[in-house]
Amino acid sequence: MRHEKGALPLRTAPTNLLALDEEGMSRLVEQFGWPAYRTGQILRCIYQMTDLGQADRTALALQATIQRAARCTVFQSVDHTRKLVLTLNDGLTVETVLIPDEDRLTICVSTQVGCTLDCSFCLTGTMGLKRNLKPHEIMEQVLTAQDRLLLGERITNLVFMGMGEPLANMEALSEAIRRLTNKPWGLGWSPRRITVSTAGLAARLKDIAPLGVNLAISLNATTDDQRATLMPAVNGIASLKTLLAACRRYPLPPTRRLTFEYVLLAGVNDHADDARRLTKLVRGIACKINLIPFNEFPGNPFRRPSEGAISAFQAIVRKAGLDVFVRKSRGRDVLGACGQLGNLSPEYVVRALTQIESRC
Ligand code: SAH
Repeated sequence: MRHEKGALPLRTAPTNLLALDEEGMSRLVEQFGWPAYRTGQILRCIYQMTDLGQADRTALALQATIQRAARCTVFQSVDHTRKLVLTLNDGLTVETVLIPDEDRLTICVSTQVGCTLDCSFCLTGTMGLKRNLKPHEIMEQVLTAQDRLLLGERITNLVFMGMGEPLANMEALSEAIRRLTNKPWGLGWSPRRITVSTAGLAARLKDIAPLGVNLAISLNATTDDQRATLMPAVNGIASLKTLLAACRRYPLPPTRRLTFEYVLLAGVNDHADDARRLTKLVRGIACKINLIPFNEFPGNPFRRPSEGAISAFQAIVRKAGLDVFVRKSRGRDVLGACGQLGNLSPEYVVRALTQIESRC
């Protein structure tokens, strides 16, 4: 249920419709200024499936259920970013992040539990791959997050930048995008609001084009030697040359651009020479560049560059005529920022994170 901001006094949590009896529901309907018959409409949506006859409903209920994740724990950052940790039906956990920013609310969704890749600056990479998520488990992250939105909130963008490598779970990714964008029965979102981020599985880039979503490529290094150190598995599959050739071949619609992501690691890939090589690598590709200052996590030796170093890097890239942005780091205190999703020791989690809600 949705209504315009300000139609009702803003509360921290939405009204639980299940907690309302007929009288309560009719009071709510009155507050909206809606006609009285809305009360019955809403109650029927909750308790009945009236498009289907009684016999069919009974038959369906005997054989089928709408199963949701066993548990969801929410951690809230001081900057209002919320990290949702979902326990799946086999006991594994997967993380999703809601990132409010001015008039946008972005959801960052996972496609795998863990990751096949071993990028040395990413916490998820240290877990190894536990398993691919199924399409319904990808959707479940979105639906659970939607259930928990505050009054007046609406998800405006979705990025596949959570745990895992989306292109290594292509079938489930495509099916989830189909359900997100399907207008007659799905969520009906425009594919332009969706971005898939890949570490660089070059041969599979072409499979993203027909989905109509935006594509982001995590470049992160400007020479193969450097990339082989930072992202050994993916660089072994496709060299920088192969990856950029695939980007050049990518069938971009006229008004769209690719995004190149570049994690900035202090003293490693943040030199002026790196910035200059980066501009040369992407020359001629319709693109923008997102610089992501490294988000630190316990046990990892990399460090975040100083603000000065970040600005200097950005200035060189900008001077070459490229659109280059520095991604704001959000949710770091709840380990909800880029590269911070994954399993840490439970003692650390209890000490560091602010749990705001838990449901069985
Ligand atoms: N596997 C996909 C999507 C997940 S990572 C990919 O590699 O694109 C999403 C983004 O976070 C990537 O650009 C990745 O390079 C970046 N990232 C990973 N670990 C990070 C960290 N610790 N700090 C900042 N960015 C990180």
